[in-house]
Amino acid sequence: MIEVSNKCIGCTKCVPVCPFAAINMISKKAVMNEACTLCGACVQVCPVQAITITREEASAKDFSGYKGVWVYVELTETGDKTHPKKIKPVTFELLGAARKLADELREEVCAVLLTDKDHNYAKDLGAYGADKVYMVEHDELFEYNTDVFSTVIVGLVNRHKPSSMLYGATIQGRDLAPRVASTLYVGLTADCTALAIKDGLLLQSRPAFGGNIMADILAPNSRPQMSTVRPNVMKMNEPVVGRTAVVVRESAKLDKSLRRVKVLERKIAHDAAGVKIETAGVIVSGGRGMKTKEKFRQLEELSKLLGGVVGASRAAVDLGFKDKAHQVGQSGTTVSPKLYLSFGISGAVQHIVGMKASDVIVAVNKDPNAPIFNVAKYGIVGDAHEIVPKLIEALKKK
Ligand code: FAD
Ligand code: SF4
Ligand code: SF4
Repeated sequence: MIEVSNKCIGCTKCVPVCPFAAINMISKKAVMNEACTLCGACVQVCPVQAITITREEASAKDFSGYKGVWVYVELTETGDKTHPKKIKPVTFELLGAARKLADELREEVCAVLLTDKDHNYAKDLGAYGADKVYMVEHDELFEYNTDVFSTVIVGLVNRHKPSSMLYGATIQGRDLAPRVASTLYVGLTADCTALAIKDGLLLQSRPAFGGNIMADILAPNSRPQMSTVRPNVMKMNEPVVGRTAVVVRESAKLDKSLRRVKVLERKIAHDAAGVKIETAGVIVSGGRGMKTKEKFRQLEELSKLLGGVVGASRAAVDLGFKDKAHQVGQSGTTVSPKLYLSFGISGAVQHIVGMKASDVIVAVNKDPNAPIFNVAKYGIVGDAHEIVPKLIEALKKK
């Protein structure tokens, strides 16, 4: 419920920020009409805190009207003028996960797309599993902005009532999802590594206590149930060519004053080595067992010969063998290359969670009981300092 108290001074500041044209000024007082989605945008701008939104006691609520598994569609810049933005792969990974959940619940998978220009995104979203695309197309959505995007999403959620909503645990998803969750007064489970359905609820699993246990989290008292999932954690489904999604165009009246933060300049920081560890097809990773920075450098040569990039355990990063951008694992990057070669890495749980989705894992360790062998397809018990030069030599001969 939304209420305007008699503190209202009739300044009209709330009127242009309402994306749903839900505020009328009557007798110099703001009055909300039935179009209000409780998005909260007006609360933020009122200079005298005259507006309050009261949410119902969650446990007393009937959630039978909440249906559909939603996926937030993240767009990324391409640098190409004709198609300046494309859908981030994590969106397709989430659509695959959402498809399984929705099939079990017998609900729809809906993609939520906010953009300034539609480049026929629905074609790919449908092919990867969306039944429906809620699309808001507006000039003010030309770039991601926390206030604007969260306001629109909160409005859509209040209007259509999904049972769950998934976001990529990317910079954007990690900024957007908590804002939406706090506005809606719902929970959010960050960095989920597995999602399933249990008794009709979204079972969200994620490592806890430094990765030593897996926590299973349920949110029985609020809707939507919301999670972020890191890129490369969920396997992307094969696209089904010709499978289409119904596009539902949603309107939003977005005023510039909603945007409290303005981007004055953008600088894209590229790693000196141009590392793209999260999308690499081959990763040659080293750990503390590589012993020194000089010896670790041999992995660069090996990875070059294989057309891959170098990864590192946290211990290797802490020892200064490689910088943090290359760290694989819970507090580094989650990867899923076709081939993951590991040299002198023990296989601590925090490392494993970041690379276990790789197609083929080859591990070299001189300790036959090293836990890395539990996830490796091929294991070599031996000295990395002997094996790496031999591999380099063999590849050079080829
Ligand atoms: P060690 O565990 O010291 O293993 C070295 C291995 O090298 C041993 O198995 C040894 O048998 C082998 N070895 C030694 N010499 C040779 C040789 N000549 N040839 C072959 N093998 C040899 N770790 C990560 O990697 N990524 C993370 O993101 C991450 N996040 C963390 C987050 C938290 C909250 C915490 C608490 C820890 C995290 N860690 C992470 C640290 C993790 O627990 C381990 O300490 C770390 O992964 C160990 O790195 P390592 O395997 O290189 O070193
Ligand atoms: Fe305020 Fe949002 Fe309702 Fe408009 S829709 S009146 S901005 S809470
Ligand atoms: Fe009233 Fe606040 Fe709206 Fe101004 S911003 S009109 S004080 S409710």
